[in-house]
Amino acid sequence: MDLHLELLEVQRRVQGRIPLPSFELNAAIFARHQADATPLLRFEDIPLELSDLRLVVRQMADILRRFGALEEKEYQQVQALGRDASLTAVLGDWYRAPALRHAAAVGHGPAPAAPLHDTGAFDQLFTVAMRPFLSRCAEVIQQRPELASWPHPHCAVCGGEPDFAVITSAAERHLICGRCALRWKFEPLTCPYCRNSDRTQVTSFATPDGQYRVYACDVCTRYLKAYDGRRAARPVMPVVDGVATLPLDAAAIQRGYS
Ligand SMILES: [Zn+2]
Ligand SMILES: [Zn+2]
Repeated sequence: MDLHLELLEVQRRVQGRIPLPSFELNAAIFARHQADATPLLRFEDIPLELSDLRLVVRQMADILRRFGALEEKEYQQVQALGRDASLTAVLGDWYRAPALRHAAAVGHGPAPAAPLHDTGAFDQLFTVAMRPFLSRCAEVIQQRPELASWPHPHCAVCGGEPDFAVITSAAERHLICGRCALRWKFEPLTCPYCRNSDRTQVTSFATPDGQYRVYACDVCTRYLKAYDGRRAARPVMPVVDGVATLPLDAAAIQRGYS
């Protein structure tokens, strides 16, 4: 929990000074991306300032190493990466990977080559380091009315997967992107990871206080946590709620989900 609070603090400090992105967005562009299932935000459109980016990568890496989430060898690789010019290229590959994987899965392109830094530790580092920049971009698109019709289980902004959800007062389920925190409505009982919609193949259970819920898919064995906002006094806070529900992760993993 301390680890996540420290990561969040760095994000808060950085995010405030990131400019809003300027990229063209209108109903026709939205419709085209929706039809192609491709994310709206190109890597080139993210307002990345190299000195800010280097700083946030270094600070996040320091925190992750201090809490043992980054090994010494990986930490040294990150330090080297922060010094040379390839940092932006590496992050560009990381950013585009989910959209390329998705396109390959539906037969629209070759499978992407395994990224250079293909371990969970790097993915975690890049996710937290890019979050302030991507969240800023998501703020812009979150306001767009066209988002209401986005039917895909991956994020309209960045192509990332949801890693949390919220049940709204209207009993809709909104997915929350694990990279940019965009929220969008999705069918309440369809697995966003494999699209299984057979209700007998989805195990759902709540915490005793009814505040959180887990949807576990018996087809792909992945699970998604949700904050139940129907009787809640406050809005969902994805990072905080993600940490508060670590015992639910343990319960889901114990039942064989991942
Ligand atoms: Zn996203
Ligand atoms: Zn599934």
